[in-house]
Amino acid sequence: MLKLKTTFLALALAGAATMATGLTASAQDKATVGIAMPTKSSARWIDDGNNMVKVLKERGYNTDLQYAEDDIPNQLSQVENMVTKGAKALVIAAIDGTTLSDVLKQAKAKGITVIAYDRLIRGTPDVDYYATFDNFQVGVLQAQSIEQGLGLKDGKGPFNIELFGGSPDDNNAYFFYNGAMSVLKPYIDSGKLVVASGQMGMDKVATLRWDGATAQARMDNLLSAYYGNKKLNAVLSPYDGISIGIISSLKGVGYGSADQKMPIISGQDAEVPSIKAMLRGDQYSTIFKDTRDLAKVTADMVDAALAGKQVTVNDTKTYENGVKTVPSYLLKPVVVYKDNWEKVLVESGYYKKSQFQ
Ligand code: BGC
Repeated sequence: MLKLKTTFLALALAGAATMATGLTASAQDKATVGIAMPTKSSARWIDDGNNMVKVLKERGYNTDLQYAEDDIPNQLSQVENMVTKGAKALVIAAIDGTTLSDVLKQAKAKGITVIAYDRLIRGTPDVDYYATFDNFQVGVLQAQSIEQGLGLKDGKGPFNIELFGGSPDDNNAYFFYNGAMSVLKPYIDSGKLVVASGQMGMDKVATLRWDGATAQARMDNLLSAYYGNKKLNAVLSPYDGISIGIISSLKGVGYGSADQKMPIISGQDAEVPSIKAMLRGDQYSTIFKDTRDLAKVTADMVDAALAGKQVTVNDTKTYENGVKTVPSYLLKPVVVYKDNWEKVLVESGYYKKSQFQ
C-alpha cells in the first residue's frame, strides 16, 4: 500500500514538474510576430501598433514592430528582415497593397503565417487571412452622415458637393468610395447633389498616400476653378487627415464664418484633432474603428494559425485580391457625431476626456 502511494506521489510530482516545464518552455519559445505598420504620421496607426504589441505580449509572444513612414521600399525591407530573423507570423498593414509578392513568397516557403492587417495585400497567393473593418460600410456611413447633415432625406437641396478618395494603391480606398457612392449616386442622378467640378470616380478624386497637403491643394484648385460664385455645401472626405487639409483650404477662402458656413465634411479614424474640429463645428462626422478590437481579432488569428487550429473568419466572399479570395474577419465601424462622441470614444475608454480639454 505504502509502495503504491509513494509511486503515485512520485508520478504526480513528475507530472506537475512536466507541466511546469511545459509551461515555461512554451512561454519562452513563443514565436516572434512581425508587425509592419505604414506610418506614424497618423495616430490611428500608432494605436494599432501599440495595441497589437500589447495583446500579443499578453499572450506570451515576442513582437517586432516596424513603421515605414509611408515609404514602400522601406516597408519591403522591414518585412524582409522579419522573415530573415525568423518571425513565425507576419501582420502587415501595407503601404501599397501590391508590392510585397516576392517577400511573401519567401515567407510562405518558410511556413510563416501572413495576415493582412486592415488593408488587403493584393496580387499574391501568399496571404493567409485578412483582419479589417467592413470597409464598404465605412463609406456608407460617411455618405449617410452627409445625407443627414444636409437633410437630403427630407427632400432638401440641391446642394453642391465635392468628392475626395483615399490612396489609389490602398484597396480600402475603393471600398470607401464605392460604399459612399452607393448612397450619394442616386442624389447626384436626381440633381439633389451637384458635383460642380464634375470630378467623380477614383481615377479623378484619389489622394495619393492619404496626404492632407495633397487634398488641400486639390481643394484650393476646385474652389478657385468652380466656386467663384457658388457655395460648396458638402465634401466627402475618406479620412480625418484629408479633412484637415480640406478644412484649411476652405478657411483660406472664408468658410467657417458667420455668413459662410463650413460645408458638411466627413472623415475617418476619430483622431483627436478631428474630434476637436468637430466640436468647433469645422468637421461634421468621423468614423471610429476600434483598433483594440482589430488587434484582438488579429491576435486570435495568429494564435489559431500557429496552433494549427481553425482560424475564425466571418467573410469568405468579399476580399478578392486578384489571385485568391482572402478569408477575412470584418469588424463594425461606428459613425461619430458631436452628440455621441463622448459615449463612443470616452466612455468606451478609448480616449480620456482630458485629451479634449
Ligand atoms: C484605413 C483608414 C485610414 C487610411 C489612412 C486606410 O487603409 O483603413 O482607417 O484612414 O488608411 O491611413
